[in-house]
Amino acid sequence: MIMSKTSTKELAVFGGPPLFDETLHVGRPNIGDRKKFLRRVNDMFDQRRLSNNGPFMRELEQKLATFLGVKHCISMCNATVALEITARALGLQGEVILPSFTFVASAHALQWQEITPVFCDVDPVTHNIDPGKIENLITPRTTGILGVHVWGRACDVEALSAIARKRHLRLMFDAAHAFACTHQGQMIGGFGDAEVFSFHATKFFNTFEGGAVTTNNDELAARLRGMRNFGFAGLDNVVDIGTNGKMSEVSAAMGLTSLESLDAFISVNYENYLTYCSGIEGIPGVKLIEFTGNEKNNYQYVVMEIDENKAGLSRDLLVKLLHAENILARRYFYPGCHQMEPYRSYFPNARLLLPETERLTANVLQLPTGTAVGKSEIDQICDLIRFIFFNGQEIKASIAQGNSFHD
Ligand SMILES: *Cc1c(COP(=O)(O)O)cnc(C)c1O
Repeated sequence: MIMSKTSTKELAVFGGPPLFDETLHVGRPNIGDRKKFLRRVNDMFDQRRLSNNGPFMRELEQKLATFLGVKHCISMCNATVALEITARALGLQGEVILPSFTFVASAHALQWQEITPVFCDVDPVTHNIDPGKIENLITPRTTGILGVHVWGRACDVEALSAIARKRHLRLMFDAAHAFACTHQGQMIGGFGDAEVFSFHATKFFNTFEGGAVTTNNDELAARLRGMRNFGFAGLDNVVDIGTNGKMSEVSAAMGLTSLESLDAFISVNYENYLTYCSGIEGIPGVKLIEFTGNEKNNYQYVVMEIDENKAGLSRDLLVKLLHAENILARRYFYPGCHQMEPYRSYFPNARLLLPETERLTANVLQLPTGTAVGKSEIDQICDLIRFIFFNGQEIKASIAQGNSFHD
């Protein structure tokens, strides 16, 4: 049954029934062919290989390297540990420049090993780190740049590489959003010194928990493999500091199964994105971020940008209204890493240097998508969003009168 609201009184925020009985999520896990997965789990038990360089892990690494067109793929237990290991394997220390407009793990992975994250502002159009603002942040302590391919749209890789070369810095990428995305026709995975992917359950391609580092550098790959496994180089022989970053066999089995459904996941995401595009078209001050036609994207995130002056209603109010209807829109990456602890205390004035980050964290939201969401739900969401914006003044007036239930 398609429901829609005909009066602002029917909005859930004013006590009406929510549009959806069950909550719709931005990143409900995509699950491939269960039978194939369970068959792999049975094989795994038969072989009694649960972790430690097992056959599924090796098969997944090899398939990912081929798919990404990169020499080495080193699977990991998650992207956060993968970022930590990569930063250490690259010899990063002192300060590393990265955007604040990213998931907090990008910054934490550095700070965890006492590398100071130095936040750089982003480009308002691409949402990625602004190469023009990096050089001013370089100090004698700077050892590297960590770019983040936000929403799977590649950073300005050429500009970042040029700065890294000129200033003798290492360049790594947090590619957690960018699995199966391209930059100038080339799969993301081979840029910079190394790139890090996340295969967390909420990402469109998942291994429950998991991640991977990709690189074309043989020496770095060997170092990453060693560090992932306590620094072991053979039985009883530890040659380096290390940690435990290994991906388990059950995760690798999930990865192989997810990989077989990758095209299906992407095409559902793409259809969902197109449905949203036509559904919200023509609302003043509201737009979805665009993807260049000739680059591949995974369409994992449907990202809406709101210009409150034109739209007449803020991002935060829209999110509140949507949550009341059981539409769990998200506000990534609000409030920005620089506004989260410990960075907020370390750099109380950081926001002065991050005007575009501040603007984006106030204006951007993500809408539910993935294989758990279909066209009819998206049509309803879009109808609701149109209804909300076209009745913005009345809704705001009613909230001002204290009629709102949800806070
Ligand atoms: C999800 C994500 C991470 C963390 O990945 P995990 O695998 O959960 O550790 C890091 N950076 C970005 C940009 C992410 O979206």
